[in-house]
Amino acid sequence: HPILFKLLIVSTVSGGGLLAFSDAGPFERLITNSSQNESKKKKVVVLGTGWAGTSFLKNLKSSSYDVQIVSPNNFFAFTPLLPSVTNGTVEARSIVEPIRNIVKKKPYNVEFKEAECYKIDPVNKKVYCRSNQSPNLDGIEEFTVDYDILVLAMGARVNTFNTPGVEEHAHFLKEVGDAQKLRRSIIDCYERASLPSVSEEEKKRIMHFVVVGGGPTGVEYAAELHDLAFDDLAKLYPSAKDYLKITLLEAGDHILNMFDKRITTFATEKFQREGIDVRTGSMVVRVSDKDISTKERKTGETVSLPYGVVLWSTGIATRPVVKDFMSQIGQAQRRVLATDEWLRVEGCKDVYALGDSATINQRKVMEDIAAIFKKADKNNTGTLDLKDFKEVVSHICERYPQVELYLQKNKLKSFDALLKNAQGNDKKEIDIETFKKALSEVDSQMKSLPPTAQVAAQQGEYLAKCFNRMELCEKNPEGPLRFRASGRHQFHPFRYRHFGQFAPLGGEQTAAQLPGDWVSIGHSTQWLWYSVYANKLVSWRTKMLVISDWSRRFIFGRDSSKI
Ligand code: FAD
Repeated sequence: HPILFKLLIVSTVSGGGLLAFSDAGPFERLITNSSQNESKKKKVVVLGTGWAGTSFLKNLKSSSYDVQIVSPNNFFAFTPLLPSVTNGTVEARSIVEPIRNIVKKKPYNVEFKEAECYKIDPVNKKVYCRSNQSPNLDGIEEFTVDYDILVLAMGARVNTFNTPGVEEHAHFLKEVGDAQKLRRSIIDCYERASLPSVSEEEKKRIMHFVVVGGGPTGVEYAAELHDLAFDDLAKLYPSAKDYLKITLLEAGDHILNMFDKRITTFATEKFQREGIDVRTGSMVVRVSDKDISTKERKTGETVSLPYGVVLWSTGIATRPVVKDFMSQIGQAQRRVLATDEWLRVEGCKDVYALGDSATINQRKVMEDIAAIFKKADKNNTGTLDLKDFKEVVSHICERYPQVELYLQKNKLKSFDALLKNAQGNDKKEIDIETFKKALSEVDSQMKSLPPTAQVAAQQGEYLAKCFNRMELCEKNPEGPLRFRASGRHQFHPFRYRHFGQFAPLGGEQTAAQLPGDWVSIGHSTQWLWYSVYANKLVSWRTKMLVISDWSRRFIFGRDSSKI
Protein backbone atom coordinates (compact mmCIF):
# COMPACT_ATOMS: atom_id res chain seq x y z
CA HIS A 1 0.00 0.00 0.00
CA PRO A 2 1.51 3.38 -1.01
CA ILE A 3 0.85 5.05 2.39
CA LEU A 4 2.48 2.21 4.23
CA PHE A 5 5.42 2.38 1.86
CA LYS A 6 5.80 6.12 2.57
CA LEU A 7 5.66 5.48 6.30
CA LEU A 8 8.40 2.88 5.99
CA ILE A 9 10.60 5.34 4.18
CA VAL A 10 9.89 8.15 6.68
CA SER A 11 10.76 5.90 9.56
CA THR A 12 13.97 4.60 7.99
CA VAL A 13 15.13 8.10 7.14
CA SER A 14 14.27 9.47 10.56
CA GLY A 15 16.28 6.77 12.31
CA GLY A 16 13.46 4.57 13.49
CA GLY A 17 14.73 1.68 11.40
CA LEU A 18 12.69 -1.21 10.18
CA LEU A 19 14.55 -3.69 12.30
CA ALA A 20 14.35 -1.70 15.53
CA PHE A 21 11.69 -3.78 17.22
CA SER A 22 10.27 -2.39 20.43
CA ASP A 23 7.45 -3.28 22.80
CA ALA A 24 5.04 -1.39 20.62
CA GLY A 25 5.82 -3.58 17.59
CA PRO A 26 7.38 -2.39 14.34
CA PHE A 27 4.29 -0.93 12.64
CA GLU A 28 2.97 0.91 15.69
CA ARG A 29 6.42 2.33 16.15
CA LEU A 30 6.55 3.43 12.54
CA ILE A 31 3.25 5.23 12.90
CA THR A 32 4.29 6.93 16.16
CA ASN A 33 7.55 8.16 14.62
CA SER A 34 5.89 9.60 11.58
CA SER A 35 3.08 11.28 13.50
CA GLN A 36 5.67 12.83 15.83
CA ASN A 37 7.38 14.28 12.75
CA GLU A 38 4.08 15.52 11.43
CA SER A 39 3.14 17.17 14.72
CA LYS A 40 6.47 19.02 14.79
CA LYS A 41 5.55 20.81 11.59
CA LYS A 42 4.26 24.33 12.01
CA LYS A 43 0.76 25.00 10.74
CA VAL A 44 0.94 27.92 8.33
CA VAL A 45 -2.36 29.36 7.16
CA VAL A 46 -2.23 31.57 4.05
CA LEU A 47 -5.23 33.83 3.46
CA GLY A 48 -5.50 34.85 -0.20
CA THR A 49 -4.19 33.58 -3.53
CA GLY A 50 -3.36 36.91 -5.17
CA TRP A 51 0.09 38.26 -5.97
CA ALA A 52 1.43 38.18 -2.41
CA GLY A 53 -0.03 34.80 -1.35
CA THR A 54 0.89 33.03 -4.59
CA SER A 55 4.42 34.39 -4.63
CA PHE A 56 4.82 33.18 -1.03
CA LEU A 57 3.51 29.70 -1.92
CA LYS A 58 5.66 29.44 -5.05
CA ASN A 59 8.84 30.32 -3.23
CA LEU A 60 8.27 28.30 -0.07
CA LYS A 61 10.61 25.33 -0.37
CA SER A 62 10.91 24.00 3.17
CA SER A 63 9.12 20.79 4.07
CA SER A 64 8.84 21.78 7.73
CA TYR A 65 5.41 23.34 7.33
CA ASP A 66 1.84 22.16 6.98
CA VAL A 67 0.25 24.75 4.74
CA GLN A 68 -3.47 25.50 4.55
CA ILE A 69 -4.63 27.99 1.95
CA VAL A 70 -7.95 29.78 2.29
CA SER A 71 -9.24 31.93 -0.56
CA PRO A 72 -12.62 32.56 -2.22
CA ASN A 73 -10.89 32.08 -5.61
CA ASN A 74 -9.26 28.75 -6.43
CA PHE A 75 -6.92 30.50 -8.87
CA PHE A 76 -4.33 33.20 -9.21
CA ALA A 77 -5.28 36.05 -11.57
CA PHE A 78 -2.74 38.16 -13.45
CA THR A 79 -4.36 41.54 -12.64
CA PRO A 80 -2.28 43.75 -14.99
CA LEU A 81 -4.11 42.11 -17.90
CA LEU A 82 -7.61 42.63 -16.46
CA PRO A 83 -8.18 45.78 -18.59
CA SER A 84 -7.38 43.68 -21.67
CA VAL A 85 -10.07 41.19 -20.60
CA THR A 86 -12.68 43.97 -20.51
CA ASN A 87 -12.46 44.46 -24.27
CA GLY A 88 -11.68 40.94 -25.39
CA THR A 89 -8.02 41.48 -26.31
CA VAL A 90 -7.29 38.65 -23.90
CA GLU A 91 -9.70 35.98 -22.66
CA ALA A 92 -10.38 35.61 -18.91
CA ARG A 93 -9.19 32.01 -18.76
CA SER A 94 -5.85 32.96 -20.30
CA ILE A 95 -4.82 35.06 -17.31
CA VAL A 96 -5.72 32.67 -14.49
CA GLU A 97 -3.90 29.62 -13.16
CA PRO A 98 -5.48 27.15 -10.70
CA ILE A 99 -3.76 27.44 -7.33
CA ARG A 100 -3.71 23.65 -7.00
CA ASN A 101 -1.55 23.54 -10.15
CA ILE A 102 0.84 26.08 -8.69
CA VAL A 103 1.41 24.19 -5.42
CA LYS A 104 1.09 20.60 -6.60
CA LYS A 105 4.80 19.79 -6.69
CA LYS A 106 5.82 21.65 -3.55
CA PRO A 107 7.73 19.81 -0.85
CA TYR A 108 5.41 20.96 1.97
CA ASN A 109 2.02 19.44 2.85
CA VAL A 110 -0.65 21.66 1.42
CA GLU A 111 -4.43 21.87 1.43
CA PHE A 112 -6.64 24.40 -0.28
CA LYS A 113 -10.04 25.52 1.00
CA GLU A 114 -12.27 27.59 -1.27
CA ALA A 115 -13.77 29.96 1.28
CA GLU A 116 -13.47 33.47 2.60
CA CYS A 117 -12.11 34.26 6.01
CA TYR A 118 -14.61 36.43 7.89
CA LYS A 119 -12.90 36.63 11.28
CA ILE A 120 -9.39 36.29 12.68
CA ASP A 121 -9.00 35.32 16.33
CA PRO A 122 -5.38 36.14 17.25
CA VAL A 123 -5.81 35.03 20.89
CA ASN A 124 -6.83 31.45 20.11
CA LYS A 125 -4.88 31.45 16.82
CA LYS A 126 -7.87 30.57 14.66
CA VAL A 127 -9.44 31.89 11.51
CA TYR A 128 -13.18 31.62 10.87
CA CYS A 129 -14.12 30.79 7.30
CA ARG A 130 -17.26 30.68 5.22
CA SER A 131 -17.54 28.65 2.04
CA ASN A 132 -18.94 30.33 -1.04
CA GLN A 133 -20.46 27.04 -2.21
CA SER A 134 -24.22 26.67 -1.79
CA PRO A 135 -25.00 25.98 1.90
CA ASN A 136 -25.64 22.53 3.38
CA LEU A 137 -28.99 21.46 4.84
CA ASP A 138 -28.50 23.56 7.98
CA GLY A 139 -27.98 26.58 5.77
CA ILE A 140 -24.36 27.11 6.81
CA GLU A 141 -20.98 26.22 5.38
CA GLU A 142 -18.68 27.56 8.08
CA PHE A 143 -15.54 26.16 9.68
CA THR A 144 -12.45 27.24 11.59
CA VAL A 145 -8.78 26.65 10.83
CA ASP A 146 -6.08 26.71 13.54
CA TYR A 147 -2.68 28.22 12.84
CA ASP A 148 0.78 28.51 14.34
CA ILE A 149 1.69 31.15 11.79
CA LEU A 150 -0.78 33.25 9.82
CA VAL A 151 0.12 34.85 6.49
CA LEU A 152 -2.41 37.52 5.69
CA ALA A 153 -2.44 38.26 1.94
CA MET A 154 -6.07 39.19 1.36
CA GLY A 155 -5.40 42.29 -0.73
CA ALA A 156 -7.79 45.22 -0.46
CA ARG A 157 -11.26 46.23 -1.55
CA VAL A 158 -12.29 49.08 -3.82
CA ASN A 159 -12.50 52.44 -2.09
CA THR A 160 -15.84 54.10 -2.79
CA PHE A 161 -15.23 56.92 -0.26
CA ASN A 162 -18.83 56.20 0.81
CA THR A 163 -20.06 58.03 -2.26
CA PRO A 164 -23.83 57.39 -2.50
CA GLY A 165 -24.88 55.02 -5.27
CA VAL A 166 -21.42 53.71 -6.20
CA GLU A 167 -21.83 50.21 -4.72
CA GLU A 168 -25.22 49.84 -6.41
CA HIS A 169 -24.61 51.28 -9.86
CA ALA A 170 -20.91 51.44 -10.72
CA HIS A 171 -18.70 48.71 -12.16
CA PHE A 172 -15.37 47.85 -10.52
CA LEU A 173 -12.26 46.32 -12.02
CA LYS A 174 -10.63 44.29 -9.29
CA GLU A 175 -11.51 40.67 -10.10
CA VAL A 176 -11.80 38.55 -13.23
CA GLY A 177 -15.61 38.50 -12.78
CA ASP A 178 -15.63 42.33 -12.80
CA ALA A 179 -13.81 42.41 -16.16
CA GLN A 180 -16.23 39.91 -17.71
CA LYS A 181 -19.25 41.85 -16.41
CA LEU A 182 -17.87 45.10 -17.77
CA ARG A 183 -17.27 43.52 -21.20
CA ARG A 184 -20.88 42.31 -21.36
CA SER A 185 -22.26 45.69 -20.23
CA ILE A 186 -20.42 47.58 -22.98
CA ILE A 187 -21.66 45.24 -25.70
CA ASP A 188 -25.14 45.47 -24.13
CA CYS A 189 -25.08 49.24 -24.59
CA TYR A 190 -24.04 48.91 -28.25
CA GLU A 191 -26.83 46.41 -28.89
CA ARG A 192 -29.42 48.58 -27.16
CA ALA A 193 -28.28 51.74 -28.94
CA SER A 194 -28.80 49.86 -32.26
CA LEU A 195 -32.48 49.19 -31.58
CA PRO A 196 -34.94 51.31 -33.61
CA SER A 197 -37.30 51.69 -30.62
CA VAL A 198 -34.74 53.62 -28.54
CA SER A 199 -34.94 57.45 -28.61
CA GLU A 200 -32.03 59.69 -29.67
CA GLU A 201 -31.71 61.08 -26.15
CA GLU A 202 -31.57 57.58 -24.67
CA LYS A 203 -28.98 56.45 -27.25
CA LYS A 204 -26.74 59.36 -26.24
CA ARG A 205 -27.05 58.37 -22.59
CA ILE A 206 -26.46 54.66 -23.17
CA MET A 207 -23.37 55.29 -25.29
CA HIS A 208 -21.74 57.56 -22.71
CA PHE A 209 -19.05 55.54 -20.92
CA VAL A 210 -17.59 57.19 -17.84
CA VAL A 211 -14.39 56.21 -16.04
CA VAL A 212 -13.94 57.63 -12.54
CA GLY A 213 -10.30 57.87 -11.43
CA GLY A 214 -7.30 58.93 -13.50
CA GLY A 215 -4.86 56.42 -12.01
CA PRO A 216 -3.12 53.73 -14.10
CA THR A 217 -6.15 51.38 -14.11
CA GLY A 218 -8.70 54.08 -15.07
CA VAL A 219 -6.43 55.46 -17.80
CA GLU A 220 -5.64 52.00 -19.21
CA TYR A 221 -9.33 51.08 -19.23
CA ALA A 222 -10.31 54.31 -21.04
CA ALA A 223 -7.58 53.61 -23.63
CA GLU A 224 -8.66 49.98 -24.09
CA LEU A 225 -12.29 51.02 -24.47
CA HIS A 226 -11.34 53.59 -27.11
CA ASP A 227 -9.38 50.93 -29.05
CA LEU A 228 -12.28 48.48 -28.89
CA ALA A 229 -14.75 51.13 -30.03
CA PHE A 230 -12.69 52.43 -32.97
CA ASP A 231 -10.80 49.31 -34.11
CA ASP A 232 -13.67 46.82 -33.94
CA LEU A 233 -17.13 48.03 -32.84
CA ALA A 234 -17.32 51.02 -35.18
CA LYS A 235 -17.48 48.62 -38.18
CA LEU A 236 -19.96 46.27 -36.51
CA TYR A 237 -22.35 48.88 -35.05
CA PRO A 238 -22.48 51.67 -37.68
CA SER A 239 -25.69 53.19 -36.29
CA ALA A 240 -24.47 53.28 -32.66
CA LYS A 241 -20.96 54.55 -33.21
CA ASP A 242 -21.92 58.21 -33.70
CA TYR A 243 -23.34 58.41 -30.18
CA LEU A 244 -20.17 57.16 -28.50
CA LYS A 245 -18.60 59.34 -25.83
CA ILE A 246 -15.87 58.42 -23.34
CA THR A 247 -15.29 60.62 -20.29
CA LEU A 248 -12.49 60.29 -17.74
CA LEU A 249 -13.17 62.05 -14.41
CA GLU A 250 -10.30 62.88 -12.06
CA ALA A 251 -10.66 64.80 -8.78
CA GLY A 252 -7.01 65.92 -8.78
CA ASP A 253 -5.19 68.34 -11.07
CA HIS A 254 -3.97 65.75 -13.55
CA ILE A 255 -4.23 62.12 -14.50
CA LEU A 256 -1.47 59.54 -13.77
CA ASN A 257 -0.17 61.74 -10.97
CA MET A 258 2.27 59.09 -9.72
CA PHE A 259 4.08 59.20 -13.07
CA ASP A 260 6.59 61.65 -14.50
CA LYS A 261 5.13 64.90 -15.81
CA ARG A 262 6.15 64.02 -19.38
CA ILE A 263 3.95 60.91 -19.25
CA THR A 264 1.01 62.80 -17.74
CA THR A 265 1.18 65.46 -20.44
CA PHE A 266 1.57 62.92 -23.25
CA ALA A 267 -1.40 60.88 -22.01
CA THR A 268 -3.66 63.93 -21.57
CA GLU A 269 -2.85 65.30 -25.02
CA LYS A 270 -3.25 61.89 -26.67
CA PHE A 271 -6.67 61.39 -25.05
CA GLN A 272 -7.79 64.88 -26.04
CA ARG A 273 -6.72 64.28 -29.66
CA GLU A 274 -8.69 61.04 -29.70
CA GLY A 275 -11.84 62.63 -28.31
CA ILE A 276 -11.68 61.15 -24.80
CA ASP A 277 -12.99 63.91 -22.54
CA VAL A 278 -10.51 64.26 -19.66
CA ARG A 279 -12.07 66.31 -16.85
CA THR A 280 -9.70 67.12 -13.99
CA GLY A 281 -10.82 68.79 -10.74
CA SER A 282 -14.09 66.92 -11.08
CA MET A 283 -15.22 65.07 -7.97
CA VAL A 284 -18.05 62.55 -8.13
CA VAL A 285 -20.53 63.15 -5.29
CA ARG A 286 -23.37 60.78 -6.24
CA VAL A 287 -24.16 58.04 -8.73
CA SER A 288 -27.74 57.11 -9.63
CA ASP A 289 -28.88 54.44 -12.09
CA LYS A 290 -28.78 56.88 -14.99
CA ASP A 291 -26.55 59.80 -14.07
CA ILE A 292 -23.46 60.87 -12.19
CA SER A 293 -23.28 64.11 -10.23
CA THR A 294 -19.90 65.82 -10.02
CA LYS A 295 -18.70 68.85 -8.12
CA GLU A 296 -16.42 70.96 -10.30
CA ARG A 297 -13.55 72.51 -8.40
CA LYS A 298 -13.06 75.50 -10.73
CA THR A 299 -16.67 76.67 -10.80
CA GLY A 300 -18.03 75.10 -7.60
CA GLU A 301 -21.02 73.90 -9.64
CA THR A 302 -22.66 70.50 -9.43
CA VAL A 303 -22.93 68.92 -12.87
CA SER A 304 -25.07 65.96 -13.85
CA LEU A 305 -23.81 63.53 -16.51
CA PRO A 306 -26.18 60.91 -17.95
CA TYR A 307 -24.27 57.66 -18.55
CA GLY A 308 -24.61 54.11 -19.88
CA VAL A 309 -21.73 52.41 -18.04
CA VAL A 310 -19.57 53.80 -15.25
CA LEU A 311 -16.31 52.25 -14.07
CA TRP A 312 -15.22 53.24 -10.55
CA SER A 313 -11.45 53.04 -10.15
CA THR A 314 -10.34 55.39 -7.40
CA GLY A 315 -8.00 53.37 -5.26
CA ILE A 316 -8.22 50.81 -2.49
CA ALA A 317 -9.36 50.48 1.12
CA THR A 318 -8.97 47.95 3.94
CA ARG A 319 -11.26 44.89 3.90
CA PRO A 320 -13.83 44.69 6.78
CA VAL A 321 -12.28 41.44 8.12
CA VAL A 322 -8.88 43.14 8.36
CA LYS A 323 -10.47 46.23 10.00
CA ASP A 324 -12.02 43.97 12.63
CA PHE A 325 -8.65 42.26 13.20
CA MET A 326 -6.98 45.69 13.55
CA SER A 327 -9.43 46.70 16.25
CA GLN A 328 -8.62 43.50 18.19
CA ILE A 329 -4.86 44.16 18.18
CA GLY A 330 -4.90 47.87 19.03
CA GLN A 331 -4.62 49.26 15.50
CA ALA A 332 -8.18 50.61 15.35
CA GLN A 333 -6.96 54.16 14.76
CA ARG A 334 -4.98 53.26 11.68
CA ARG A 335 -6.27 53.28 8.11
CA VAL A 336 -4.17 50.34 6.94
CA LEU A 337 -2.80 47.37 8.89
CA ALA A 338 0.75 48.17 10.02
CA THR A 339 3.72 45.81 9.98
CA ASP A 340 7.38 46.25 10.76
CA GLU A 341 10.01 45.85 8.03
CA TRP A 342 10.08 42.10 8.61
CA LEU A 343 6.37 42.10 7.61
CA ARG A 344 5.32 41.07 11.14
CA VAL A 345 2.01 42.62 12.14
CA GLU A 346 2.57 45.13 14.93
CA GLY A 347 0.98 44.18 18.22
CA CYS A 348 0.32 40.55 17.27
CA LYS A 349 2.61 37.54 17.44
CA ASP A 350 3.02 35.05 14.58
CA VAL A 351 0.97 37.01 12.06
CA TYR A 352 2.60 38.35 8.89
CA ALA A 353 0.84 40.66 6.44
CA LEU A 354 1.87 41.47 2.90
CA GLY A 355 0.73 43.02 -0.35
CA ASP A 356 -2.16 45.47 -0.51
CA SER A 357 -3.57 44.33 2.84
CA ALA A 358 -0.83 46.02 4.90
CA THR A 359 1.79 48.73 4.96
CA ILE A 360 5.15 49.07 6.68
CA ASN A 361 4.77 51.48 9.58
CA GLN A 362 6.69 54.58 8.60
CA ARG A 363 6.48 56.37 11.97
CA LYS A 364 8.05 53.40 13.72
CA VAL A 365 10.83 53.43 11.14
CA MET A 366 11.61 57.07 11.92
CA GLU A 367 11.61 56.44 15.67
CA ASP A 368 13.98 53.55 15.14
CA ILE A 369 16.29 55.68 13.01
CA ALA A 370 16.43 58.30 15.76
CA ALA A 371 17.33 55.55 18.24
CA ILE A 372 20.10 54.22 15.97
CA PHE A 373 21.53 57.71 15.81
CA LYS A 374 21.33 58.15 19.56
CA LYS A 375 23.16 54.91 20.09
CA ALA A 376 25.96 56.01 17.76
CA ASP A 377 26.37 59.22 19.75
CA LYS A 378 28.02 57.34 22.60
CA ASN A 379 29.27 60.35 24.54
CA ASN A 380 25.99 62.16 24.19
CA THR A 381 27.64 65.23 22.66
CA GLY A 382 24.84 65.91 20.24
CA THR A 383 27.26 65.55 17.33
CA LEU A 384 28.76 62.79 15.26
CA ASP A 385 32.00 62.95 13.36
CA LEU A 386 31.84 62.52 9.62
CA LYS A 387 33.01 58.91 9.62
CA ASP A 388 30.43 57.86 12.22
CA PHE A 389 27.75 59.82 10.40
CA LYS A 390 28.42 58.01 7.12
CA GLU A 391 28.35 54.72 8.95
CA VAL A 392 25.04 55.58 10.59
CA VAL A 393 23.53 56.59 7.26
CA SER A 394 24.69 53.38 5.55
CA HIS A 395 23.38 51.37 8.51
CA ILE A 396 20.02 53.14 8.22
CA CYS A 397 19.92 52.57 4.45
CA GLU A 398 20.68 48.90 4.92
CA ARG A 399 17.82 48.51 7.37
CA TYR A 400 15.39 50.88 5.78
CA PRO A 401 15.25 50.56 2.01
CA GLN A 402 12.59 53.28 1.87
CA VAL A 403 15.16 55.82 3.12
CA GLU A 404 17.65 54.71 0.50
CA LEU A 405 14.98 54.91 -2.21
CA TYR A 406 14.10 58.40 -1.07
CA LEU A 407 17.73 59.48 -0.98
CA GLN A 408 18.34 58.16 -4.49
CA LYS A 409 15.18 59.71 -5.84
CA ASN A 410 15.86 63.10 -4.31
CA LYS A 411 19.49 62.98 -5.33
CA LEU A 412 20.52 63.09 -1.67
CA LYS A 413 19.51 66.74 -1.42
CA SER A 414 19.16 67.02 2.33
CA PHE A 415 21.98 64.64 3.19
CA ASP A 416 24.30 66.16 0.63
CA ALA A 417 23.70 69.53 2.19
CA LEU A 418 24.47 68.09 5.60
CA LEU A 419 27.68 66.47 4.40
CA LYS A 420 28.85 69.61 2.60
CA ASN A 421 28.12 71.63 5.68
CA ALA A 422 30.12 69.25 7.85
CA GLN A 423 33.02 69.07 5.43
CA GLY A 424 33.11 72.84 5.38
CA ASN A 425 33.26 73.24 9.14
CA ASP A 426 36.48 72.90 11.11
CA LYS A 427 35.32 70.11 13.39
CA LYS A 428 34.03 67.96 10.51
CA GLU A 429 31.05 67.03 12.62
CA ILE A 430 27.37 66.52 12.00
CA ASP A 431 24.99 68.17 14.37
CA ILE A 432 22.28 65.77 15.54
CA GLU A 433 19.56 68.40 15.49
CA THR A 434 20.30 69.29 11.86
CA PHE A 435 20.32 65.61 11.05
CA LYS A 436 16.93 65.18 12.74
CA LYS A 437 15.57 68.01 10.63
CA ALA A 438 16.78 66.24 7.51
CA LEU A 439 15.15 63.07 8.78
CA SER A 440 11.82 64.78 9.33
CA GLU A 441 12.04 66.05 5.76
CA VAL A 442 12.57 62.46 4.64
CA ASP A 443 9.69 61.41 6.88
CA SER A 444 7.23 63.89 5.46
CA GLN A 445 8.15 63.16 1.85
CA MET A 446 8.75 59.46 2.08
CA LYS A 447 5.65 57.68 0.91
CA SER A 448 4.78 54.14 1.92
CA LEU A 449 5.34 51.50 -0.74
CA PRO A 450 2.80 51.67 -3.57
CA PRO A 451 0.03 49.03 -3.62
CA THR A 452 1.32 47.19 -6.67
CA ALA A 453 1.80 43.62 -7.83
CA GLN A 454 5.53 44.28 -7.86
CA VAL A 455 5.62 45.05 -4.14
CA ALA A 456 3.22 42.19 -3.26
CA ALA A 457 5.21 39.60 -5.25
CA GLN A 458 8.54 40.71 -3.78
CA GLN A 459 7.12 40.60 -0.25
CA GLY A 460 5.76 37.08 -0.84
CA GLU A 461 9.14 35.92 -2.12
CA TYR A 462 10.98 37.60 0.77
CA LEU A 463 8.74 36.00 3.40
CA ALA A 464 9.02 32.53 1.82
CA LYS A 465 12.82 32.81 1.80
CA CYS A 466 12.74 33.78 5.50
CA PHE A 467 10.52 30.77 6.22
CA ASN A 468 12.88 28.49 4.25
CA ARG A 469 15.77 29.55 6.47
CA MET A 470 13.79 29.87 9.69
CA GLU A 471 15.32 26.90 11.51
CA LEU A 472 18.85 27.80 10.47
CA CYS A 473 18.43 31.45 11.39
CA GLU A 474 17.03 30.68 14.81
CA LYS A 475 20.53 29.37 15.61
CA ASN A 476 22.52 31.86 13.48
CA PRO A 477 20.71 35.16 13.13
CA GLU A 478 21.84 36.94 10.01
CA GLY A 479 20.12 40.35 10.06
CA PRO A 480 21.36 43.75 11.31
CA LEU A 481 22.36 44.41 14.91
CA ARG A 482 19.52 45.02 17.31
CA PHE A 483 19.70 48.48 18.81
CA ARG A 484 17.06 47.96 21.52
CA ALA A 485 18.63 44.69 22.71
CA SER A 486 21.82 42.73 22.19
CA GLY A 487 22.43 40.33 19.29
CA ARG A 488 21.31 40.39 15.69
CA HIS A 489 17.94 40.23 13.99
CA GLN A 490 16.96 36.86 12.62
CA PHE A 491 16.75 38.09 9.01
CA HIS A 492 17.49 41.16 6.96
CA PRO A 493 14.43 43.40 6.67
CA PHE A 494 12.33 43.44 3.50
CA ARG A 495 14.03 45.41 0.77
CA TYR A 496 11.96 46.60 -2.21
CA ARG A 497 13.57 46.81 -5.65
CA HIS A 498 11.70 49.03 -8.05
CA PHE A 499 11.85 47.88 -11.68
CA GLY A 500 9.71 50.62 -13.15
CA GLN A 501 6.07 51.14 -14.05
CA PHE A 502 4.05 50.93 -17.26
CA ALA A 503 1.01 52.92 -18.35
CA PRO A 504 -0.58 51.49 -21.52
CA LEU A 505 -2.21 54.36 -23.42
CA GLY A 506 -3.93 52.56 -26.30
CA GLY A 507 -3.26 52.63 -30.03
CA GLU A 508 -0.30 50.27 -29.49
CA GLN A 509 1.47 52.92 -27.41
CA THR A 510 2.67 52.58 -23.83
CA ALA A 511 4.53 54.86 -21.43
CA ALA A 512 7.16 53.45 -19.10
CA GLN A 513 8.90 55.05 -16.17
CA LEU A 514 11.98 53.05 -15.39
CA PRO A 515 14.43 53.33 -12.48
CA GLY A 516 16.58 56.45 -12.55
CA ASP A 517 13.58 58.44 -13.83
CA TRP A 518 14.15 57.13 -17.33
CA VAL A 519 11.01 57.71 -19.39
CA SER A 520 10.08 55.98 -22.61
CA ILE A 521 6.82 56.47 -24.55
CA GLY A 522 5.53 55.04 -27.80
CA HIS A 523 5.19 51.96 -29.99
CA SER A 524 8.55 50.42 -29.04
CA THR A 525 7.61 50.68 -25.35
CA GLN A 526 4.43 48.76 -26.19
CA TRP A 527 6.63 45.88 -27.39
CA LEU A 528 8.62 46.12 -24.18
CA TRP A 529 5.28 45.89 -22.32
CA TYR A 530 4.30 42.78 -24.34
CA SER A 531 7.57 41.03 -23.59
CA VAL A 532 7.70 41.95 -19.88
CA TYR A 533 4.13 40.84 -19.22
CA ALA A 534 4.41 37.66 -21.28
CA ASN A 535 7.49 36.84 -19.26
CA LYS A 536 5.83 37.63 -15.92
CA LEU A 537 2.84 35.35 -16.49
CA VAL A 538 2.77 32.64 -13.87
CA SER A 539 2.93 29.46 -16.02
CA TRP A 540 3.85 28.26 -19.51
CA ARG A 541 0.17 27.50 -20.09
CA THR A 542 -0.92 31.11 -19.42
CA LYS A 543 2.04 32.47 -21.41
CA MET A 544 0.98 30.42 -24.44
CA LEU A 545 -2.69 31.38 -24.06
CA VAL A 546 -2.02 35.11 -23.72
CA ILE A 547 0.42 35.18 -26.65
CA SER A 548 -2.10 33.33 -28.82
CA ASP A 549 -4.85 35.78 -27.72
CA TRP A 550 -2.65 38.71 -28.73
CA SER A 551 -1.94 37.08 -32.12
CA ARG A 552 -5.63 36.29 -32.64
CA ARG A 553 -6.51 39.91 -31.96
CA PHE A 554 -3.93 41.14 -34.51
CA ILE A 555 -5.33 38.80 -37.17
CA PHE A 556 -9.10 38.68 -36.51
CA GLY A 557 -9.79 41.66 -34.22
CA ARG A 558 -11.61 41.49 -30.88
CA ASP A 559 -14.62 39.28 -30.29
CA SER A 560 -17.81 41.27 -29.61
CA SER A 561 -20.11 38.35 -28.74
CA LYS A 562 -22.10 38.91 -25.58
CA ILE A 563 -21.64 35.55 -23.84
P1 FAD B 1 -4.69 40.52 -4.49
O1 FAD B 1 -3.85 40.19 -5.67
O2 FAD B 1 -5.88 41.39 -4.67
O3 FAD B 1 -5.14 39.15 -3.82
C1 FAD B 1 -5.97 39.07 -2.73
C2 FAD B 1 -6.39 37.62 -2.55
O4 FAD B 1 -7.11 37.49 -1.35
C3 FAD B 1 -7.30 37.12 -3.66
O5 FAD B 1 -6.94 35.80 -3.99
C4 FAD B 1 -8.67 37.14 -3.02
O6 FAD B 1 -9.53 36.19 -3.58
C5 FAD B 1 -8.30 36.78 -1.59
N1 FAD B 1 -9.29 37.19 -0.59
C6 FAD B 1 -10.09 38.26 -0.61
N2 FAD B 1 -10.86 38.29 0.49
C7 FAD B 1 -10.53 37.21 1.21
C8 FAD B 1 -10.98 36.67 2.45
N3 FAD B 1 -11.94 37.27 3.15
N4 FAD B 1 -10.44 35.52 2.89
C9 FAD B 1 -9.48 34.89 2.17
N5 FAD B 1 -9.00 35.36 1.01
C10 FAD B 1 -9.52 36.50 0.55
N6 FAD B 1 0.20 46.25 -10.16
C11 FAD B 1 1.36 46.32 -10.84
O7 FAD B 1 2.43 46.26 -10.22
N7 FAD B 1 1.38 46.51 -12.20
C12 FAD B 1 0.24 46.58 -12.93
O8 FAD B 1 0.28 46.72 -14.15
C13 FAD B 1 -1.00 46.48 -12.24
N8 FAD B 1 -2.17 46.56 -12.92
C14 FAD B 1 -3.34 46.39 -12.26
C15 FAD B 1 -4.52 46.41 -12.98
C16 FAD B 1 -5.74 46.24 -12.32
C17 FAD B 1 -7.01 46.26 -13.10
C18 FAD B 1 -5.76 46.04 -10.92
C19 FAD B 1 -7.07 45.84 -10.19
C20 FAD B 1 -4.59 46.05 -10.20
C21 FAD B 1 -3.37 46.22 -10.86
N9 FAD B 1 -2.16 46.23 -10.14
C22 FAD B 1 -0.97 46.32 -10.82
C23 FAD B 1 -2.15 46.16 -8.68
C24 FAD B 1 -1.99 44.74 -8.23
O9 FAD B 1 -2.94 43.89 -8.83
C25 FAD B 1 -2.17 44.65 -6.71
O10 FAD B 1 -1.29 45.53 -6.09
C26 FAD B 1 -1.89 43.24 -6.26
O11 FAD B 1 -2.91 42.39 -6.77
C27 FAD B 1 -1.85 43.12 -4.74
O12 FAD B 1 -1.61 41.80 -4.42
P2 FAD B 1 -2.26 41.14 -3.11
O13 FAD B 1 -1.81 39.73 -3.10
O14 FAD B 1 -1.99 41.99 -1.94
O15 FAD B 1 -3.82 41.22 -3.37
